[in-house]
Amino acid sequence: MLLEEPYCRECLKAGRRRQARIVDHIVPLEWSQCDERYNKQALCIACHDEKSKQERAAGRPSNEELAARLRRLKAEWLT
Ligand SMILES: [Zn+2]
Repeated sequence: MLLEEPYCRECLKAGRRRQARIVDHIVPLEWSQCDERYNKQALCIACHDEKSKQERAAGRPSNEELAARLRRLKAEWLT
């Protein structure tokens, strides 16, 4: 997975190229139970820490919201 996506996805969005270290579940595994490729992204440690912090602060979204996010990720992945 990190061979496929060697650079942190968040850093790339911000115009930085930083080595990815962590395979992150975009919608956290404990909420989504979704271990599919489309729910995974490569992140650096700093971006992963930041994302985890925001997720903890925001709390768990509703099941409907989680399902909608997964549908969106899947659709984006397939296009
Ligand atoms: Zn990063």
